[in-house]
Amino acid sequence: MSTPGSPTVADPPALERIRVVLVRPRHPGNIGAAARAIKTMGLSQLWLVSPERFPDPEAEILAAEARDLLASARVVDELDRAIGDCALTIATSARERSQDWPLLSPNSAAERVLSCAGVAEAALVFGPENSGLKSAELYRCQYRSAIPTGAGARSLNLSHAVQVYAYAIRSALDSAEPSEAAPLASTEDRERLYRHLRQVLEALDFPRRDPEHLLLKFRALGNRSDLRAAEVSLLRGLLRRVEQRIGNTECDSTMSETPREADA
Ligand code: SAH
Repeated sequence: MSTPGSPTVADPPALERIRVVLVRPRHPGNIGAAARAIKTMGLSQLWLVSPERFPDPEAEILAAEARDLLASARVVDELDRAIGDCALTIATSARERSQDWPLLSPNSAAERVLSCAGVAEAALVFGPENSGLKSAELYRCQYRSAIPTGAGARSLNLSHAVQVYAYAIRSALDSAEPSEAAPLASTEDRERLYRHLRQVLEALDFPRRDPEHLLLKFRALGNRSDLRAAEVSLLRGLLRRVEQRIGNTECDSTMSETPREADA
């Protein structure tokens, strides 16, 4: 890691594969400050999901030296478009959640993100200033992460939270272990698997009560297991065979590309 005053060394390419995703940010100043926070730490990708005001002069002012990064921010209308092709997604959240979603410290989140970004795109997802991420958005992500705070106030300013994670990533550069070369499943791959699983569970009428709760458990299991793309294919091949056996041939259009290699 370069220290203040040391000659500038090129940033490792893994940093280019890390996305900072701001979901429905309300204040343009926070968008600008987030751009500055990530640029100073050597990151380069800012994604904005339905920002309330963008572009905006206030964002430019707060971005300071990071105006170029701000100008290159990708604006999309829903979270899936920002993370669909990512192999790792981590939601950040100040709130205590009752659900048992796997929780990482900022340092472990940073290590995982860096390790994944050695070979694939990875995303850190931040919620809106007023309400944070919705539960459905959190469940799209494999992990959640929270910055420890004092008892009196849990919630940091959005751009400050971005700075904490960007710095944690910068600090983890020295210790990052390269991840395996086998391609990891993307968010899209995993979502297809969960949709397929839901279809099969419904066809099996299992469980009779509260299928949503069971699906959430499967989602948690899949999300924390670093699934590879080939493993998703294997599982979907198995689901396809179950469907054939129970005579459930009604597949929706997203199921039509069910892989066949595990279908022998
Ligand atoms: N009232 C909201 C706070 C939103 S703050 C809530 O209860 O969640 C805006 C965003 O900044 C959050 O969605 C999260 O992405 C990030 N953030 C703020 N404080 C954080 C903390 N302690 N740990 C991790 N992320 C935090």
